[in-house]
Amino acid sequence: MTKPLPPNMHQGVKILHDPIRNKGTAFTEAERDALNLRGLLPPRVHSMAEQELRVLHNIREKATDLDRYLYLIALQDRNENLFYRVVMNHLEEMMPILYTPTVGQACMAFRHLYRKPRGFYVSLNDKGNVAKLLNNWPHKDARIIVVTDGERILGLGDLGADGMGIPIGKLALYTACAGIHPTHCLPVMLDVGTDNERLLNDPLYNGLERRRARGKLYDELVDEFITAASKVFPGVLIQLEDFGNTNAFRFLEKYRDRACVFDDDIQGTGAVAVAGLIASMRITGSRLSEQKLLFLGAGEAGIGIADVFVAALVEEGMSPDDARAKCWFVDSKGLVCKSRDKLAEHKLPYAHDYPGCTDLITAVHALKPTAILGLSGQPNTFTQEVIEAMASYNDRPIIFALSNPTSKAECTAEEAYGYSDGRAIFASGSPFDPVTIGNKTFVPGQGNNAYIFPGVGLGVIASGARRVPDEMFLAAAQSLASQVTDADLERGRVYPSLTRIREVSSLIARDVAQIAFDNKLTDMEEPEDLLAFIHEHMYQPVYPHYA
Ligand code: NAD
Repeated sequence: MTKPLPPNMHQGVKILHDPIRNKGTAFTEAERDALNLRGLLPPRVHSMAEQELRVLHNIREKATDLDRYLYLIALQDRNENLFYRVVMNHLEEMMPILYTPTVGQACMAFRHLYRKPRGFYVSLNDKGNVAKLLNNWPHKDARIIVVTDGERILGLGDLGADGMGIPIGKLALYTACAGIHPTHCLPVMLDVGTDNERLLNDPLYNGLERRRARGKLYDELVDEFITAASKVFPGVLIQLEDFGNTNAFRFLEKYRDRACVFDDDIQGTGAVAVAGLIASMRITGSRLSEQKLLFLGAGEAGIGIADVFVAALVEEGMSPDDARAKCWFVDSKGLVCKSRDKLAEHKLPYAHDYPGCTDLITAVHALKPTAILGLSGQPNTFTQEVIEAMASYNDRPIIFALSNPTSKAECTAEEAYGYSDGRAIFASGSPFDPVTIGNKTFVPGQGNNAYIFPGVGLGVIASGARRVPDEMFLAAAQSLASQVTDADLERGRVYPSLTRIREVSSLIARDVAQIAFDNKLTDMEEPEDLLAFIHEHMYQPVYPHYA
């Protein structure tokens, strides 16, 4: 029989394998003694700053972004404080690796890259037992859940269980951008099957080997999950993520008044794009109410933006009908207008009494919009002809090519600036490098939802809000736009620098929490200094002391 180890020896080894408590080579001499770590670590003690340098060196040595992603995720699995320190201190460099576009590549190969479980899987096989299952999650204080069913991952389509990379990535951004404590974050994959043949034919696929459940069976699992999650983790905020568009609209309607739920693809996108439009007004010198928007793509993202835009105009005093009249959509079948039959429900409020047309360029000439917004997932659709037409009708045409990842953007930054003689106000969903035309360098803004959802999440959980009403997204858009500086605009950027994201998120959180207090959506008493209160809730990536 082997002799049992003294309890504190177990404890030391456990700490080394616990990413929340591990400090790696930064355990001090005293801690190594107290925790019986001698021999388990190389002798030299490093500071966290030195560890950060090693990580940066290693990341930069890697040959591809996917290798960098894998390295970062492995670090997150080993040492979360160090991971977040690196990510927070180098957000502009790390964001495209942790999130779009690299996370898209990672999801495409997720089954092959699989090493260690991260996140929580709920499948059809668990129906009837979801609450019990959720108790297996090791952290009892989950405050934010990001849940997907993997049906519409970024612009990449149905990736089934491989879509797990998205909730993991989004929650990492909640922590990095708004300081939500890592143990308060719960990524969830609802596996209801996949219709992706490539996955179904791959023996290494990790998800259920079946076609997607739809209808009653599917709805019952979603319902059981929302109910169970709200019960096991009282007050938890549930972010619906990358569901197919009919389900996304349906679930948002069904649950928004029953649980603390929002949909980032609809509402978060709405807020970030409208923030970009509000900031653009400072360049064009015009008013939001004078804009005419033409969207390419009438799905979750496009309709979500139009809804927040309409809310902004209504707040300015316009009627909802007049506000909606300013939003036009071209989808895969052409201009969304009343004469079309079988229009999806979410498109109906934006179907105008107007002759139809089948292509974007005809719509641009007919409508002369002030802004075009691409949310179609179709690259090269903002053609030279489209951009030149926009530039012929507007001094400063607003051109937002928001489809992700980069390969799906409707046009590149270079095309938008190049075909408009540098007059376009451009933003994209995935990052583009600066573009120089003549002697002017333009820094394209990234209309990244990460400007919005972390701040909204922080505001909701810090205030204990029971619901996430639409007003919170309009407030978030206004808050974000107000933080764009003149220097940002001077460089062509309609979003603040990502380096300021924590400050930006905390101010958004304050404005969102204010709505919760003003509308009595919480039982908490309003703190005297709301911003200071928000700051107190923000996690900092520092090591604990053990001795
Ligand atoms: P969705 O599937 O709900 O909608 C896609 C829409 O595009 C549909 O209306 C479809 O009819 C339309 N479409 C498809 N092909 C078309 C074509 N050839 N011409 C015109 N329209 C066409 O998807 P979604 O959630 O709305 O996302 C769409 C895109 O927006 C994705 O690429 C996604 O990554 C991107 N997105 C970007 C951001 C951001 O930048 N912040 C946020 C959310 C979504």
